[in-house]
Amino acid sequence: MVDLKKLELWFVTGSQHLYGEETLKQVAAHSQTIAAALNSSPKIAVTVVYKPVLKTPDEIYALCQEVNNAKNCIGIIAWMHTFSPAKMWIGGLKILQKPLLHLHTQFNRDIPWNDIDMDFMNLNQSAHGDREFGFIMTRMRLRRKVVVGYWEDPAVQVNINTWARAAAGWHDWQGARFVRFGDNMRQVAVTEGDKVEAEMKFGYSVNTHGVGDLVKVINEVTDADIEKLCAVYEDQYKLTDTLARGGSQRASLVEAARIELGMRYFLEQGNFKGFTDTFEDLHGMVQLPGIASQRLMADGYGFGGEGDWKTAALVRAMKVMGSGLKGGNSFMEDYTYHFDPENQMVLGAHMLEICSSIAHGQPLCSVHPLGIGGKADPVRLVFNVAGGPALNASIIDMGNRFRLLVNEVEAITPVHDLPKLPVARVLWKPYPDMQTGCAAWILAGGAHHTCYSQNLTAGHLEDFADMAQVEYVLIGKKTDLYQFKNELRWSDVYYQINS
Ligand code: MN
Repeated sequence: MVDLKKLELWFVTGSQHLYGEETLKQVAAHSQTIAAALNSSPKIAVTVVYKPVLKTPDEIYALCQEVNNAKNCIGIIAWMHTFSPAKMWIGGLKILQKPLLHLHTQFNRDIPWNDIDMDFMNLNQSAHGDREFGFIMTRMRLRRKVVVGYWEDPAVQVNINTWARAAAGWHDWQGARFVRFGDNMRQVAVTEGDKVEAEMKFGYSVNTHGVGDLVKVINEVTDADIEKLCAVYEDQYKLTDTLARGGSQRASLVEAARIELGMRYFLEQGNFKGFTDTFEDLHGMVQLPGIASQRLMADGYGFGGEGDWKTAALVRAMKVMGSGLKGGNSFMEDYTYHFDPENQMVLGAHMLEICSSIAHGQPLCSVHPLGIGGKADPVRLVFNVAGGPALNASIIDMGNRFRLLVNEVEAITPVHDLPKLPVARVLWKPYPDMQTGCAAWILAGGAHHTCYSQNLTAGHLEDFADMAQVEYVLIGKKTDLYQFKNELRWSDVYYQINS
C-alpha cells in the first residue's frame, strides 16, 4: 500500500533560556535519545525525526511553518522536558496545520531516591511543564492527542503508533482526488452530502466524470494487455470451468479484464486515490465492474458503490492507516440478518464489490446474473472472511457537520457453505449486542455502507476524527442505549454552538 517509513513525525521539545546552556544541552541530548528510540522501535511504523529544542516564540513559529511546508511531515510529537512558558507557543500553534501529539513523558522512569537534588528537579520538569503546555492548547480549543507514560513503555509506543497511523491517513487525504463515474443512485439520501464542505474539512476533492469518459478508455485497452490480465486471474484465483480458457463464459472474463484495465488506467492518469460507480449509470459498459472494483480496492484504491464518495474516501484513508498490518479494509454493506435468538448476527456483503484483502483463502472467480442494472452478468470474486475482532466505520453528513460513526464487531467464521450465494460475504456480531448495536447505529443515522476493517481499532478512528475535527461516535462493548441517546442529543447542542 503506502510505505509508512517514508512519512515523518517531528519530535519537538519545548524549553526556555532560563536554565542556562548546560541544562539545555542535557535537554537536547535526552530528546535525541527519546526520538531515536521511538524511531527505531518496531512498534512505530513511521520515521521519527529529532528537531532542535525550542526556546523562543520565534523558534516555535518558524518550526510550525516548517512543519506545514514539509511534504513528508505528517505531524509533530511535542514534549516539555523543562518548563516552556506557553504564551511562547500561541503564535506557532495558531498556524500549525498538522496533527499534534502531546507526549507527557519523562526522561527518567524512576525517581533516583538517594541522589535526587535540585539539579535533577530543574531538569526533569515535564510533570508541570507539560501541564502549562496542555493549558494553552485547551485554552485555544485545539484538538490533539495526549499520551501519558514512560517513553520506553510498549503501551506508550503502541499508543503513539495508533495516532501516527491515523495521521498517515489524514496526510493522505490532503489534496487527494476521488472520481465518481456517474452520479448518485437515484433518490438515495445517506450517500449524498456536501462535497464543498468535505473538501474544506477533509482536504480531498470529489468530481464526477460521465461514464462515457471511462468507456472511451476501456475501449482503447489492447488485447495483449487483456490476455496478460486473464493470466493473472488464472494464477491468483480459482476460476470456474466456464471461465477457463475455452470455457462457455470466457468472453465475460475477457470483458471484465478490459474493464479493470480501463479503470486502472483512468485512475492512474487522473492521479485518483479512489472512485465510485453506480449500477444505474453504466452507459456503454458491458458489465458492472465487479472483480475490477475488488482488485482495485486490494491495491489501495478507495471505493464506494452507488456514488458513495464519503465511503470511498474513508476506505482509502483506512487502507493507508492499516498499511503493512495483517488483514484488510473493505467497502461493506449490512446486507441481511440472522435473528436466531441464540446466535444473532449480520451478513455483510455487496452486490459484488468486497475487497479481496479481507478474503480467507483463495477467492473463487465466477460469473452470475446481477438481477439489477440490466447489464451482462458480471465477473466477481467470491470468498468468506475469517472470524476475529473487526469494526465498521461510516461517515455521514449531518447538515451542520460530518459524523464519524464506528461499531466494534466480532466477525464469525462461517459454518455454512452458502453454495448458492455468489458474492463475497462476512458474518459478524455487533457490540455490545445485536439489539443495542443496531439500534444505536440507526439512531446515530449510520449509513448502510461502511468501511469494514480487520486491522484497525476504534482508537485509530477516534484519533482520525480529532485530526479532521469532526464528531466521533463509538458503539462498543460499553454502549448503553440510554446514555447513547443522551450523547447524541448533547452532541447536537455542542455542534450548534460550535458551528
Ligand atoms: Mn450499496
